[in-house]
Amino acid sequence: MTSYFDEHDCEETNGSGPDANTLLRWARLLRNDIQAFVASFDGRDIFDEERTRPPASKDVVAKLPDKVVGRYEDSRCPVCLVGYGLGETCKQLPCKHNFHPGCILPWLAKTNTCPVCRHELPTDDEEYEEFRREKARAQQRAFERESLHSAMFT
Ligand SMILES: [Zn+2]
Ligand SMILES: [Zn+2]
Repeated sequence: MTSYFDEHDCEETNGSGPDANTLLRWARLLRNDIQAFVASFDGRDIFDEERTRPPASKDVVAKLPDKVVGRYEDSRCPVCLVGYGLGETCKQLPCKHNFHPGCILPWLAKTNTCPVCRHELPTDDEEYEEFRREKARAQQRAFERESLHSAMFT
């Protein structure tokens, strides 16, 4: 009677199951598949170009908090580079960057990212929001399998 290892032409390193090298090779193949999948998904990232990003959600923009510039603040609007006057009211994005309302509102009517750090605001574009959710899920899956791989083989 021939053993599993004779039939498959590989060496038996311990008594039970496929040996560690076989498992490792399998895991590497699987990981290559995942990386190829993620790469192909990134290739379809049609929203990476700034001009194709949809505007920020009107609702979210309407609810952006106002921030009153205090006495000792020495800061300027990143869009027009003009310093804020004492007591002047700015709009604050969720990333904590402040802008003149007249500078940031026309910007957010065109694109959903902070001009300074590219933090993304929600949009009213269902297709784009679905794209973002799917991208986040793909990244999460890749992360989970990477973690599993590390836990098994390191
Ligand atoms: Zn400004
Ligand atoms: Zn920002």
